[in-house]
Order: sequence, then C-alpha cells, then structure tokens
Amino acid sequence: MLVDSHCHLDFPDFNGREAELVAAMAANDVGHALIAGVTLERFPSVRALVERFSNLYAAVGVHPDTQEGKEPDEATLIRLAAHPKVVAIGETGLDYYRLEGDLEWQRDRFRTHIRAARRCGKPLIIHTREAAADTLRILEEEDGGKAGGVFHCFTETAAVAQAALALGFHISISGIVTFKNALQVKEVARSVPLDRLLVETDAPYLAPVPHRGKLNHPALVRHVAEEIARLRGIGLDELTQATTTNFQRLFAPEKDA
Ligand SMILES: [Zn+2]
Ligand SMILES: [Zn+2]
Repeated sequence: MLVDSHCHLDFPDFNGREAELVAAMAANDVGHALIAGVTLERFPSVRALVERFSNLYAAVGVHPDTQEGKEPDEATLIRLAAHPKVVAIGETGLDYYRLEGDLEWQRDRFRTHIRAARRCGKPLIIHTREAAADTLRILEEEDGGKAGGVFHCFTETAAVAQAALALGFHISISGIVTFKNALQVKEVARSVPLDRLLVETDAPYLAPVPHRGKLNHPALVRHVAEEIARLRGIGLDELTQATTTNFQRLFAPEKDA
C-alpha cells in the first residue's frame, strides 16, 4: 500500500468529509497518511484526527508562512511531540517566495524546530521555497542531519536535492510531478535514489493530473506514484514498496501497517 507522507487533512476544506476521504484511501490502496502541522492553534484538530483514525499520523510544527498565532519554543514542540502518533517535527523551513522583508524570525523559528527535533529524536519535515541556500546552511549549522527527515513537496534543482541527500535527508515528491511543464521536478523524481524517495499530496493543494485544479486528498497520491514509476521505468508495485518502506523506516509508526 502507498503512503501519503504529507497532507493537511485537518484544514477546513475537509470539514465533515474526513471519514469519506479515509475510506477513499483504502479504496485506492493508500494505507497511511501523515498530517503536517502549520500552527500551534490548529494542532488539537490534527491530534483529534490521528486519534480518531488509526492509519493517520501527525507532525507538530509551525509553517514558515504562518505570521499569526503562537511562536513555538523548543519545550512546547517537544511536549506536543511526545504523543505516540506524532512522528515528526514540522512542517518547518524557509519560504522567501510568499513573504518579503527581514525574515530573520523565519530562520530563528526554523532553528527552534531543528533543535526540538534533535532533542526529541524525531525527524524533520522541511518546507523550502526560494530559500534553498539558507535552508541547507542552517541545517548544517544546527546539525539537522542528526535529526534527519524529508524535504517535502520538492521543487528545487537536482543539485539542491543532492545536497539534501548528502545531509542524510529524504526527498518527497508531490502532484507537481504530474504537471506537464514541471521538468525540474520530473528530473529530480527520476534521479533520487529509490531508498530516499517519498510521495505526498500536500492536500488540499496541488491535486495531480487528472484532478488538477480540484480539491486534493490523500487517495490521489496514487497518481503521483504512477507518474514517478513511469518516469523511472519501473512498476508501480516497486515504487510503492520502496516509498512505503522508506516512510516506515523514517517515521517508524506503529507496526500495525
Ligand atoms: Zn510545505
Ligand atoms: Zn504542507
């Protein structure tokens, strides 16, 4: 079964449809999904979902684009990450695309997440957009490779992917890989070693072809996997087995898989 390694099933877009979408996962051979945190205020809804559905997991963190709400400190992240179904810290990272001005606070917040991940021994879910050099530099300065984790919804160059791999990170590919013009993402999806690759939806955003422009949800990760298998010239079964094994190894969720 496939795993959606990154979604936002707690978002209001899905209100009241969660059970239906979890059922759709099973119908599409998608066994698990990981819900990434974006604010501390939303975290109780994330936790409620992973407590309700046995095959959902959570990450706790505050997204680099989040400007309102509580600023996370290490102790808070570590306390919330102690929940048995919280398997990672994130999403965190840097985003110089959405926000402008002095973003030192983003870098400070990123460092806080890396330190929390190292202290509690859980991997990082990293969001990076137009900030690859600083993301890699801060990971090196904070020894983020010791926590490990994944660069999610990867859209950077193959060279950035190589640098992330060299630090010990995994690369997760989203539905962008199904978009005709996404040549750079297709190239990365082809070249990342199979034992470092994950797949995701980032739902509700970025629905893959043939659902582009519609509401995305975890079951649609199947289309992401099919496109990557096609690009690599391997069977869907091989890609499924590799990416699910990687997910289990990285996040070590309970063995009820
Ligand atoms: Zn993200
Ligand atoms: Zn996300």
